[in-house]
Amino acid sequence: MGHFKQLTMSHYLGIDIGGTNVEFGIVDDNGEILYSSSVPTNAYGTVEELAQEIFDKVKSGFKGDFEAIGIGAPSVNLETQQIEYAPNLQWGDVIPIKDIFSDLFKKDVFVANDANAYALGIKVFGEGKDLDNFAVVTLGTGVGLGTYINGSIVVGANGLAGEIGHFVVRQAGRECKCGNMGCLEGYVGAAGIVATAKEKLEFSSGGSLLNDFQPSDISPLEVFNSARKEDPVALEVVDSVCHDLGYALSSLINLLDIQNIFLAGGITNSGNILKRKTEKHLKNYTLPNLRNRINLKISTLNQNGGGILGAAALIKASNPVLK
Ligand SMILES: [Zn+2]
Repeated sequence: MGHFKQLTMSHYLGIDIGGTNVEFGIVDDNGEILYSSSVPTNAYGTVEELAQEIFDKVKSGFKGDFEAIGIGAPSVNLETQQIEYAPNLQWGDVIPIKDIFSDLFKKDVFVANDANAYALGIKVFGEGKDLDNFAVVTLGTGVGLGTYINGSIVVGANGLAGEIGHFVVRQAGRECKCGNMGCLEGYVGAAGIVATAKEKLEFSSGGSLLNDFQPSDISPLEVFNSARKEDPVALEVVDSVCHDLGYALSSLINLLDIQNIFLAGGITNSGNILKRKTEKHLKNYTLPNLRNRINLKISTLNQNGGGILGAAALIKASNPVLK
């Protein structure tokens, strides 16, 4: 029986391009990751070099063929299949990502915004299988949003929907890489969390677990871990992060009546504190008739290569034959 399953199972290469790491892996029809690896995003001067590295690694790491390639990346224009003006990537303004990978691998390539890919991963392989309305917020270097409404991903008029990271949460706030000021990403993105921690440390008179780190070694995960240990400074930072995130998400709920919201990304590994505190602030800003119906959860896809699964789900969702 196992033999039969092997023969009919299709395999996909999923690639998740983040601001810090590029994760990639081979996924089968059941969402099982058979091989995976990751490389630091900034180690490559061009996308061509990155593509070549992934090509070599997959070739030596996985002895088998795969049907097609799915790529989740920031600032993807769904129509052109290019990455356009991604503030957290340094490979130029417009990157023809689909062409670069299909020329090298000689396979079909499907590219989408990373948060949209993640949402499809939740729909195809994860806890969203039976949901017709949900959203996923990806928390990392950037902050992304994938929204699944009435059976499809919201892509917008130009294929650019979902930039919740650039939802303005503070008037005349921190300068953002996008050129605007006070964007959510400036407070809830990895660099924003660290910036807030450094500000609070500077103005705090008491001790903090975060003082044990060199300022350059403070990471969002350290901040969240210290907050779990009731460190007062870290708690203040986490509360501020969760406030801004909850504020932005309440607008999403009030506008679209989204009930199930999943949180994804590295920070969610720090346990329940993010969910608990975000939920508290979120409810304060949400309309009374929607407030008690909110279902905020940490995505279970997260623990096992959610970005890779999301990228692979793009292939299944784009090709009706594979559905
Ligand atoms: Zn911005």
